[in-house]
Parts: sequence; C-alpha cells; structure tokens
Amino acid sequence: MLDKLKSIREQTLKQLESVADAGALRQIESATVGKKGEVTTILRTVGELPLSERPAVGRLANEIRQELEAAIAAREELIEAQALAQSLEEGALDVTLPGRPVAVGRLHPATQMLRQVYAIWADMGFQVYRSRDVEEDEINFTLLNMPPHHPARDMWDTFHTTTEGVILRTHTSPGQIRAMREYAPEPIRVILPGMCYRYEQITARHEMQFNQVEGLAVGRNIRMTDLKGTMAEFARRMYGEHLQVRFRCSHFPFTEPSMEVDAECALCEGKGCSVCKYTGWLEIGGAGMVHPVVLQNGGYDPRVFSGFAFGLGTERIMMVKHDIQDIRAFWANDLRFLEQF
Ligand SMILES: [Zn+2]
Repeated sequence: MLDKLKSIREQTLKQLESVADAGALRQIESATVGKKGEVTTILRTVGELPLSERPAVGRLANEIRQELEAAIAAREELIEAQALAQSLEEGALDVTLPGRPVAVGRLHPATQMLRQVYAIWADMGFQVYRSRDVEEDEINFTLLNMPPHHPARDMWDTFHTTTEGVILRTHTSPGQIRAMREYAPEPIRVILPGMCYRYEQITARHEMQFNQVEGLAVGRNIRMTDLKGTMAEFARRMYGEHLQVRFRCSHFPFTEPSMEVDAECALCEGKGCSVCKYTGWLEIGGAGMVHPVVLQNGGYDPRVFSGFAFGLGTERIMMVKHDIQDIRAFWANDLRFLEQF
C-alpha cells in the first residue's frame, strides 16, 4: 500500500510538470485528491487495513494529499499567469493609443437654415404654420387668383396625381389660403415653410424639390412700408447688419403691387463678384401686398383688411451664403458636402 501511494505521488507530480491547461489540471485533481480520487479513497479505507499498517499508511497518505494539493495549486497559478500573458500579447492592447472618435449625427444643412429663418421671423412675431404638401389644384392656383387657363400657371410646371384636381404643391402660397380660412377675421402673422415640387429639368440651378418659406401678414392698415421695413430687417439679420436693400417692380398673380427684394452682396459688399454675377446685389425673394381677390378668397373683406406676403427659397439663401455652386448637392446625400455644415 505504501508503494502504491508513492507511485501515485511520483506519477502525479510528473503529470503536473507537463500540464498546460486548466481543464487537464482539474482532471488530475479529481483523479487523485478529489472526492473519488485515489488518495482520498485510500484515506477513507485506512480503517479496513490490518492494524499494524494503518498508522504508516494514514500518515503517508495525508502527507501525499497535502503535497499534491499544494503542487496543483502552484501549477494552477502558473497556468493562469501564462494565459493572462498570452491574451495580453494576442490582444496587443495599447492603452496609450487615443480612442476612436464616435461619429455624431447632425441636422441636414437645409434644416439648419430653415431653423435659422424661423428664429429671425419668430423675433418679429411670426408663427410657423404648417400646410400640406399634397394640395388641391383649386387652392394651389385658382384661389390665388390663377383660374384655369390663366397664363401665369405656365410659370409652375406641376406634378399631377392620378386623382383629378390633386397635385403636389408648386409653392408654399396655398398655405396662405389655408391660414386665412383658419384665422379669419383675426389678424395673421405666420410663416409657411415646407417642400415644394416642380416638374422641372434638374440642373445645377434647378431642383424638382426645394424648401420655401412663405410669409403672410393680414390685418388692418398694413401698408407697403410695413412690408419693406420687415423685408429689410430680415435681410440685415440674415446677411449682415449694414447691408443695403433694394426693391424692384415685379409681377405675381396673388400680390398687387408685387416686387423682388434684393440685398447688397455680403461677399463683395456691393463691389461685384462671381456670386452676385458682378451686379453687387443678391436676390432674396419675391413679395407684395396680398391681392384683394386672394384676401376675399381667404375670408377677409379687402375694404377693411390688407396684408403682405413674401416667399424665400432657403436653399438659395444657403447657396449664396456659402457660395454653393450646385443645388443638387442638397439632396445627393454626399457626406463630404453634408459634413461641412
Ligand atoms: Zn458679390
């Protein structure tokens, strides 16, 4: 029995020298000093041995158990240390490297510009009024003083739907009728932002969809001077404090009189450059006094009420401010363009 114990000891110590993974180590442990291991079994059955052999076998078995347990623990520590060293080496973790930046999203430049425009008009008391993108022909044209076959309809190449009389709005002006019909006979001060759609050839200067911001003020005693002062204030806040503003005669079916509003070119300060095509002026938008017929269609008595309206193209404003040459960049989803704003 003593010889058997000694041979277990020799054999186990030898095995331990070469064992390299935790699983194999556990196996050796359970085969020797585990609950059903050889050494444990011998210790448990010492009582069955002849009386003369018991003390010697018991002592040696206990010694060997302690020795093996210590050896297994030592080996386990070594295996863990090796595993750690190996994983560090394989992972090649260099804690001194700077972290990788996380990509952060942001608002589309057109949305940024819209919000900037909202903020300026909000300061002047204009609320945002949302109107629909899919519009009735009657509201988009007829009620804005462009009856069927009116030649002015040719100015807008229209997307028609399969439903008779239902179109994609060609401008934000139909929102004027909707706002007036909702608020009449109360005074109105709103801006109507949104996407407009035109069946047009797409070029560097023309897109078939673009944002417009329409403005509408209706009340008693609203005059042309109110419109001019308001537009000039907007231009100064948008383009720069000391810029001159000029008004040119124009024609729109839904305003009378009508005008185009220009601001002095902020880039060359009126001296002339490629952005303003060497005129020194940049077009801001169209404006005018609301036509009496339109007021009437909105539910206001034109003998009592008057109003002004204007329309701005927000992508155009951005193109001028940032010298963007091609309007198609806005909807091309090219990150090289979008990440600049
Ligand atoms: Zn210029």
